[in-house]
Amino acid sequence: MKRLLILGGGTAGTMIANRLHRLLGQHEWDITVVDQDDSHHYQPAYLFVPFGTYTRDDVVRERRPLLSHGVELVLAEVKRVDADADQVVLKGGRVLNYDYLVIASGTTPRPDQTPGMVGREWRRSIFDFYTLEGAEALFEALKHFDHGRLVVHITEMPIKCPVAPLEFTFLAEAWLRRKGIRDQVELVFVTPLDGAFTQPVAAERLGAMLEQRKIHVEPDFMVERIDEDHRALVSYDERVVPFDLLVTVPLNMGADFVARSGLGDELNYVPVDKHTLQSTAYDNVFAVGDASDIPASKAGSVAHFAVEIFVDNFLALIAGRPMTGSFDGHANCFVESGDDKALLIDFNYDTQPLPGKYPLPLIGPMSLLKETRTNHLGKLAFRHIYWNVLLPGHPVPLPSHMSMAGKHDPTEEA
Ligand SMILES: Cc1cc2nc3c(=O)[nH]c(=O)nc-3n(C[C@H](O)[C@H](O)[C@H](O)COP(=O)(O)OP(=O)(O)OC[C@H]3O[C@@H](n4cnc5c(N)ncnc54)[C@H](O)[C@@H]3O)c2cc1C
Repeated sequence: MKRLLILGGGTAGTMIANRLHRLLGQHEWDITVVDQDDSHHYQPAYLFVPFGTYTRDDVVRERRPLLSHGVELVLAEVKRVDADADQVVLKGGRVLNYDYLVIASGTTPRPDQTPGMVGREWRRSIFDFYTLEGAEALFEALKHFDHGRLVVHITEMPIKCPVAPLEFTFLAEAWLRRKGIRDQVELVFVTPLDGAFTQPVAAERLGAMLEQRKIHVEPDFMVERIDEDHRALVSYDERVVPFDLLVTVPLNMGADFVARSGLGDELNYVPVDKHTLQSTAYDNVFAVGDASDIPASKAGSVAHFAVEIFVDNFLALIAGRPMTGSFDGHANCFVESGDDKALLIDFNYDTQPLPGKYPLPLIGPMSLLKETRTNHLGKLAFRHIYWNVLLPGHPVPLPSHMSMAGKHDPTEEA
């Protein structure tokens, strides 16, 4: 038996296990997934928890039923990979051997990395929504919030779902309006970027939406610490942003075992070839999903498109053929904008998000970089697609590679 070991049973790990289980000879391949706990979270739903749209039951499912019968699930924390010996050591000392290893351990918010963040104000006036516990605590806090400065903050890039803080800001603005207290609340968006988003056309569109909603943007803000006594963010260049309620996205980092194993960069992401996802150090090691250092968005959609390329390449590799599939960094993200509307952005390593229609040119039904109700319904529907189509590894009729069909570049037309 050949052994494929997958570290992390989240979005990427589950899809890979289920797809390859179907495609590989079940008597020739032993597929094992290791995860530290038995709760698979649909993380995009965290965004809606603070506003009471979703609760824990909408977000969490047990892992075992999500994996095909025949895939082994080991519930234990990974302590270390010994890539020279093709071995993984688990907490408690158990050792797993492998022929091929996929690191799919994602990225995690690390509030402990910013001085003053996890102090006495944590979950009192400082919240996050990148964990379910954080999103639930924020739901309770928002119930009692009726005036003051609400500051939404990104500590440092990269973060998973880089548009989620903007989505939270738009949803909060709409929620305050619905509650009739928008006038009593000053909304501020604090970012290390020089504008609302990284890419020029989307940054301009999203920046204009913040302006229309009278949300002040504090750009180029590199937080040094949080001053708990004065409830304020303090930057390295000594700017001070006071808050009554802070909703922060802490520094995101790959798993500690990646660093412990000598397999990571300074943020614990695994260096890989950005087209094949193969480790730059070990030919039998791959990193798929948020765990890798590829210069794409850390997003479930990226994990999905990357898995498609990875699976084809993996089948070629074990058959002794060259890996010809090339991942282009394709990302496809809905951006909730409040009032039951959303935008959609579609881009890759080389092409920024552009306006147009998706997935069918001219027809859509989704609109790119435009607020529509159809996009919002698409975002809500995606939760069902995630559990029932994506995770089981069924084909989704969306191309893995980004297409220019139906798009136009306003900067070229100008
Ligand atoms: C608030 C929010 C909103 C989002 N919205 C969107 C969206 O709208 N669209 C989109 O495409 N994406 C969105 N995302 C991002 C998306 O959820 C992630 O990019 C996706 O889940 C990445 O998949 P992954 O398999 O790489 O990592 P994960 O799904 O995070 O899985 C990693 C797994 O590894 C396990 N693990 C980690 N360390 C260890 C260890 N030491 N031992 C054992 N197991 C370990 C974890 O328990 C976890 O199960 C959002 C994320 C958040 C937080």
